[in-house]
Amino acid sequence: EKKVVLITGCSSGIGLSLAVRLASDTSKVFKVYATMRNLAKKERLLDCVKGLHQDTLEILQMDVTDRQSILTARDKVVEKRVDILVCNAGVGLMGPLEVQSLDSMRHILEVNLLGTIQTMQVFLSGMKAQGQGRILVTGSTGGLHGLPFNEVYCASKFAIEGACESLAVLLQRFNIQLSLIECGPVNSDFLINLQKAELGDSSLQQVDGQTLSLYEKYLQHCSMVFQNAAQDTEDIVEVFLDAIHSTSPAFRYFTNSVMPPVTKLKVPEPDGMEYIKAMSKIIFADEDQ
Ligand code: NAD
Repeated sequence: EKKVVLITGCSSGIGLSLAVRLASDTSKVFKVYATMRNLAKKERLLDCVKGLHQDTLEILQMDVTDRQSILTARDKVVEKRVDILVCNAGVGLMGPLEVQSLDSMRHILEVNLLGTIQTMQVFLSGMKAQGQGRILVTGSTGGLHGLPFNEVYCASKFAIEGACESLAVLLQRFNIQLSLIECGPVNSDFLINLQKAELGDSSLQQVDGQTLSLYEKYLQHCSMVFQNAAQDTEDIVEVFLDAIHSTSPAFRYFTNSVMPPVTKLKVPEPDGMEYIKAMSKIIFADEDQ
């Protein structure tokens, strides 16, 4: 029987690569539901699989901010179950905090935080009833340590860490494993899709000179980091595969084999399992007896 995988945000980047990789797996063990907000963008994914994968790939519309679209997509899964849910859709927001409109901040939180959470909500009871499941979440090192000019983005990604860690403690009891795949910079459409204050923008005119020059410095740093250290989506996909193939997946996976020193400052225990086991024991100890 095939493993049914549903992935959000598959029109580009990590989601697209993962969908292509799993649908093309020579074992043909995966049935992939690649979802995207805008089906008009499905050509890129179809080009990548070259039309060869009718039996392993299906493309569905899903906007993670629209609960009805999540429910509709779920109801179109012919197997009536999802074995592996991949919450991947996300957007960035960059610039001095003073210029961010409430609408743009709300949008980031709606997509990254509430979008991820409500996707999990919709599939959770099915997984509990099945008595098994995997949830994989595309995390960010910006969810583990703060980055200047990314306050709201990092807040959304920190929040996902909290939601996932909380859920992981409980889901252990249901044979459902939740893993975060923590990415550093990745070559994807992230920088294109990112909402970013540009140096010439009129909105930046109200910002003080010191902030502006620090922002300029940050943008240079950022483009240097992306040029020199960004990973390809295929490398990220390999880490997803590690998590998928593991019989006892860790809570956290890092896509860089060597953890950057700044990340080390914030992460005492890379795989995150010791914490989950300890908390589980404190709260649910009686069930272990
Ligand atoms: P990307 O922009 O190529 O892909 C993100 C996808 O999410 C896009 O296809 C976009 O259309 C989709 N999306 C946006 N809003 C959506 C919505 N409301 N409903 C459904 N889909 C929606 O960038 P990516 O790098 O592949 O991003 C994937 C994930 O990786 C994101 O959660 C991002 O925060 C995370 N991430 C990216 C990087 C990076 O440097 N690229 C680093 C760390 C984490």
